[in-house]
Amino acid sequence: MPSPQRFAALQQIQRRRAVATVAAAPFEEIWACDVFTLDKMKEALPGRVFKSVQRTIQTGGKLDLSVANRVAEAMRAWATGRGAHYYAHVFYPLTNSTAEKHDGFISPKADGRVISEFTGKLLVQGEPDGSSFPNGGIRSTFEARGYTAWDITSPAYLMETANGVTLCIPTVFVSWTGEALDKKTPLLRSIAAMNRQAQRLLRLLGSDAVAPVNSTCGAEQEYFLVDSAFIALRPDLQLAGRTLFGRPSPKGQQFDDHYFGAIPERVQVFMQDVERQLYKLGVPAKTRHNEVAPGQFEIAPFFEAANVATDHQQLTMTVLRNTAKKHGFTCLLHEKPFAGINGSGKHVNWSIGNASHGNLLDPGTTPHDNLQFLLFCAAVIRGVHAFGPLLRSVVATAGNDHRLGANEAPPAIISLYLGSQLEDVFNQIREGRPQGSTSGGVMQLGVDSLPEFAKDPGDRNRTSPFAFTGNRFEFRAVGSNQSVAGPLVALNTILADSLEWIASQLESQLAAGARLGDGAFVVLQQVMRDHGAVVFGGDGYSQEWHRQAVEERGLENLRTSADALPVLQRQEVRELFSRHGVLSPVELESRFAVYGEQYVLAIEVEARLALQMARTQVYPAAVRYLSELGQALQEQQAMGLQPRLAVRNQLAVLLSQLNDGCDALEQALAEPPHDGTEAHLHHCADTLLPLMLQLRDAVDGLEALVDDAIWPLPTFAEMLFAR
Ligand code: ADP
Ligand code: MG
Repeated sequence: MPSPQRFAALQQIQRRRAVATVAAAPFEEIWACDVFTLDKMKEALPGRVFKSVQRTIQTGGKLDLSVANRVAEAMRAWATGRGAHYYAHVFYPLTNSTAEKHDGFISPKADGRVISEFTGKLLVQGEPDGSSFPNGGIRSTFEARGYTAWDITSPAYLMETANGVTLCIPTVFVSWTGEALDKKTPLLRSIAAMNRQAQRLLRLLGSDAVAPVNSTCGAEQEYFLVDSAFIALRPDLQLAGRTLFGRPSPKGQQFDDHYFGAIPERVQVFMQDVERQLYKLGVPAKTRHNEVAPGQFEIAPFFEAANVATDHQQLTMTVLRNTAKKHGFTCLLHEKPFAGINGSGKHVNWSIGNASHGNLLDPGTTPHDNLQFLLFCAAVIRGVHAFGPLLRSVVATAGNDHRLGANEAPPAIISLYLGSQLEDVFNQIREGRPQGSTSGGVMQLGVDSLPEFAKDPGDRNRTSPFAFTGNRFEFRAVGSNQSVAGPLVALNTILADSLEWIASQLESQLAAGARLGDGAFVVLQQVMRDHGAVVFGGDGYSQEWHRQAVEERGLENLRTSADALPVLQRQEVRELFSRHGVLSPVELESRFAVYGEQYVLAIEVEARLALQMARTQVYPAAVRYLSELGQALQEQQAMGLQPRLAVRNQLAVLLSQLNDGCDALEQALAEPPHDGTEAHLHHCADTLLPLMLQLRDAVDGLEALVDDAIWPLPTFAEMLFAR
């Protein structure tokens, strides 16, 4: 029998019914109906004005104010016609979250009337008081001006709440000295840098008409749903987004019966609600399924241009969280809500391409003679090898540390998986000119009525942090709670850098009289000889790989964020970002400061919370049970029975462990180091976290002994299976 609070929560859940929101509607009716799409713009603007907008979107030219005025008016008319009274500049501060500054369209006139008004100037630029956003020392509060500026490449949209509608305008966020204070600015710069170098290489390969090259992204989002009835009873879920205590459920994920199982009805109704809202917002949600752990699910969109995909990913997280509440769930986006079962990642599928050449990472059926593919793929190989530690650092968060390196998510060592066909081709390149590509062949299913299908030339490897998956790479080490912007910035920039290197090498080959094909293979061979060590097709979880990677291949194993974040301060990383105009040294330093601070804050909050829960929830329950038990044992003795003391003794031991654990944690919290960010990071990783784990041992031990009728915290079994 669970404690009264837990019992009440369970009863509440039993009474819940799936909440139907609205009837199904035809696709054409809802798709992007809340987005100010190019089509809507085209309809509303004179041809000349629309062309000018289109040109700016495609080639990145300047937008003049008269055009902005016309667009603003068209946007306002559309939005107010849909009931919006406010607009918001939406921006993406360094916290992985989304921020908004809301303003009314209302404009009072001298004669007492009001009209609704929106000008090009207001559309293009805003000035939120951004002094409270973390900026890593770029601005001090007395010069805290921050500006938002319209990102014309990402469409404006309407956000609906129960009471109204707001026009949302995606923007960048910069300081008054022009430094990027957000995640969008460097993303746009990284795409531009990659475009410059990709165009250069394509021209060297003989193309005259090269369309702008963009990077593409499709991000798979994993999440947990827990019934909200439990949340009030779990301050850790409320404040830290993960459980700090809790014994594994007797039934966990061992049966693998949840993975791709039938989706529970209440959850499916929630998902359909989410998808419908996403469709209205023009987010192309494409797949849904159960994930490995009980209570865990995934949503993935069709891929889009990286900048838009990033904004849409932020929207997806917002919609997931808000919609869950409507359905009596709390959506947990934390990377490791429950110890002992799988955590959540966000696989970032990434490629580059353009209108004239298509997907530049498409190997075709005979990759060994596809020079264009080989060079772009080699650029990725070189980048991931030369800047592996950077890729580790852009996924370094307190939450994600629980995943990386554990036996579920990719290891913290960054290697690259090519699949058997490409691995073979690139091995041939290392030795000379490749002679052929193995083919996948046809799958025989042994039943005539089933279709024949072509086998992929390479299998999948779930243990690799960075894997080629047919026509794109999949960066699997990204955390479920993260913005995808940081990882994309790193990927685009290392690619720009490698493309630049390859183009320069190829230019000198050609200048020395080499033919294109011969010169290219000399460069490719050089890449494989210098950087082939990063290519690995084996089991990334194995001990042997951990040894081999570090000892024989010279790859780094940066276990925790405390090890990985300081990579942002390395000279080669500073040079990389400033050479390509993506982040200045000051901007990069500020990111180290902000991400470091966030790591420290996250762990200190958890530590204080653990202390509080242990003292005010667990300890009282445990002493109460100890005294009840003591009394019962005394009564037994009085009746002449021989009392069994084992449980009482064990309880007493665990209680004193609990007290010692609390004292130690309290003391460590009171003594943070004062000598810089790095020391503070290590204090969290190497002192606070282990002390929290010790305390957890005592608490979880007590959970196994204390009377269920007084145990205050909902159990893993309850939270994962009740719905
Ligand atoms: P899986 O679970 O097999 O990895 P999913 O269908 O869940 O596959 O997700 C694959 C993701 O990769 C989707 O978002 C898909 O749109 C995306 N994707 C496909 N092609 C590209 C590409 N060229 N660039 C970026 N993302 C891509
Ligand atoms: Mg997937």
